[in-house]
Amino acid sequence: MSGIEKHCYKRYAIQPEWIYTSNQNQDLLDKHTVIINDGLIENIIPSEHFQRETVEYVFELHQSLLTPGLINNHTHAAMSFLKGISDDQQLQDWLEKTIWPAESKFLSSELVFDGAQLSCLEMLSSGITTFNDMYFYPDSTARAALNVGIRANIGLVFMDIKTNYATDFTDYLDKGFFFRDNFRDESLITTSLAPHAPYTVNDDSFLKIRTYADQLGLNIHCHIHETDWEIQDGLKNFGMRPIERLEKLGVLGPDFMGVHCVQMVDSDLSLIEKNQMHVISCPTSNLKLASGALPINDMIKKRIGLSIGSDSSASNNKISILEDLKLFSLLQRLDKKNDTFLSDKDLIDMVTINSANALNLSKQIGSIEVGKRADITAFDLSGYKTEPVYNPLSSLIYSGSSDCVDYVWVDGNLKFSKGMFSNNIDTESILEKIRLWQKKIK
Ligand SMILES: [Zn+2]
Repeated sequence: MSGIEKHCYKRYAIQPEWIYTSNQNQDLLDKHTVIINDGLIENIIPSEHFQRETVEYVFELHQSLLTPGLINNHTHAAMSFLKGISDDQQLQDWLEKTIWPAESKFLSSELVFDGAQLSCLEMLSSGITTFNDMYFYPDSTARAALNVGIRANIGLVFMDIKTNYATDFTDYLDKGFFFRDNFRDESLITTSLAPHAPYTVNDDSFLKIRTYADQLGLNIHCHIHETDWEIQDGLKNFGMRPIERLEKLGVLGPDFMGVHCVQMVDSDLSLIEKNQMHVISCPTSNLKLASGALPINDMIKKRIGLSIGSDSSASNNKISILEDLKLFSLLQRLDKKNDTFLSDKDLIDMVTINSANALNLSKQIGSIEVGKRADITAFDLSGYKTEPVYNPLSSLIYSGSSDCVDYVWVDGNLKFSKGMFSNNIDTESILEKIRLWQKKIK
């Protein structure tokens, strides 16, 4: 595929119909212009005060909504190579009979790079400018993200299980930190510590991870309370529920991102609240693997920080996040005791500023505010699928889809526009590699 014409402007402006800022006041602005300078949001002004001659170029986007670039807060980007390989198993069977055997046979640095590139194309073209990942060979995922031009928080994965990637905790640690050192100068790449789950990581390893998190100021990204099987495993092997075990070990805290949190009782929720943990919900994956659904209203009552992730293509099988957001909103309405629903603004915040808060990146990204990096998505809301537009956020969440994505800027650079990636990305060669993997895996 040939690429879009390069727009390498240092100082330019974007003039959409509406801007949803995700700022603290949840401002939805009409007829405003965003001025970008050197990758930063320099100003947001009423369009009538904008002087065209002060910038090199103006993107005039009629009937378009600008939002902060979307953040997919939980992925395993490389697993796109297993998209559609099994659609009818519960989590434990899916892992033990399908995913882990396929990984042990085929997993390599090359496969992770090729799979992650495919996911990065899907995410960027869906308006996602940052993803929060956890997988083996983190350097391959980071290279894929940089190749496509998307921002990534890469989890340094830990398991007390031997895999093709690493033999034991020390090996995971050495490889993770070697990667981190090599990528420390890449402004689009940040890292966190990613113990896979309570059932694959022992107490000693969790204690070490907490120590490293404190010493290096890194977040912890961990699956937790995903299935009833996991709870029963915790009770049988440790005599307590997994989150109780992590609390006793001192692993929980405001820097802990707990993914899933489907199997919850009141005492679990109290521990999340007490530790000011961030919770990342993956509603499509949880329903597809028959794990259950997050107790949304109980968490909202406790003012727990909530954001959304797609999980991998192997359990979703789309990682465009907007569909997960709509599903999350609809799942909230299953609770008949509750008749107060999240607003459209609250929902968009869950895939923008809330995610940035969980990642500890909210000083840089997550909202359209002066001084932040220009990670911005423009959605075209014109046409018979989305009009009339009484409320652009409603049109996006409930009528729209990733098909509405028109322009995507990452760090001020235009990376996707009108269905085309910026011209250093060879999408055909990425697809060719995936087709070769598919033949081998089949
Ligand atoms: Zn996951």
